[in-house]
Amino acid sequence: MMRKRGVVLTPPDFSGVDWKSRMTELGLNTLGLHSGGGANHDVLRLLGKTASEEFRRDFLAAGIECEYEVHAASSLLPECWFESHPEYFALCFREGERTAAANWCITNPDVPEILAANAGKLAEKLRSTTHRYYFWGADGRGAFCHCPECSKYTPSELNLLSVNAIADGVRRVDPLAEVACLAYVEYCEVPGRVEKRENVFLEFAPYVRCYHHALNDPECSVNRRFFKVFRELGSFFGMENTHILEYWLDSSLFSNYRKPAREPFVRPELLRRDLEAYVTAGVRNVSSFAVYMDGEYFAAYGSAALEEYAAALREFLPDDGE
Ligand SMILES: [Zn+2]
Ligand SMILES: [Zn+2]
Repeated sequence: MMRKRGVVLTPPDFSGVDWKSRMTELGLNTLGLHSGGGANHDVLRLLGKTASEEFRRDFLAAGIECEYEVHAASSLLPECWFESHPEYFALCFREGERTAAANWCITNPDVPEILAANAGKLAEKLRSTTHRYYFWGADGRGAFCHCPECSKYTPSELNLLSVNAIADGVRRVDPLAEVACLAYVEYCEVPGRVEKRENVFLEFAPYVRCYHHALNDPECSVNRRFFKVFRELGSFFGMENTHILEYWLDSSLFSNYRKPAREPFVRPELLRRDLEAYVTAGVRNVSSFAVYMDGEYFAAYGSAALEEYAAALREFLPDDGE
């Protein structure tokens, strides 16, 4: 099985930099295309030409696989349904009202099939060259339904119930499809009351971890929690198929999502220690957001951080490894 060394970018990051050549030179073999975080949005519109067959073919010819990592709530349950079917949408526990700005009510009997059908439609447009799909729900906290039926489940369990429906739908259009169950913000724990579909894998995105300490540093109270939950999630989902989505190179995060872009402060020693922890646990697929790393960024800061990252990935995840 291939080992994935990736970066995740948004379309504006291609401005002023030839990412295809850079990735090839650096031995990065998987490009994740992301339409951005924040409010629900039309992912196909924001992905633009990066969502095309032509774009994928061009990267694949250079030895780079293309996957899509998107907050796809607007595609999976379009907001225009809110007026006729507010009961399909999430009931927010703070406001006590349903809203089209969050996710859906997965325990409503109609909703799993709606998600499946729409996920299939989206997968037809966003064909993954690896057959691995990352169609996430709404970004941010409090996105899950808390109606009387859903409130019995944790956000992680509501997420997995949704991912199972998405996985069923994507498999109808791509028989080899595997679908990511994102572990992120408040849904980063084992979804113990739900069984996962056979074609669902774990995507671990430790967004609120600490980047001053390594993930497995027992002296860091923040990461102690994340490393523990990572191992628990790995035993539940299986570590070998797990996809790590890190933020080591995510200038947008380190810039607080406002330009001018700042340099991520993650030290190369820390990155290597994190990678060692992941790989020792059995992980074979690692990627990092590199949002805001466009031509302007490289002109200001150079590409040492990207090069160190790629060198560490090649060392810990070599092509010819076991
Ligand atoms: Zn509900
Ligand atoms: Zn720390």
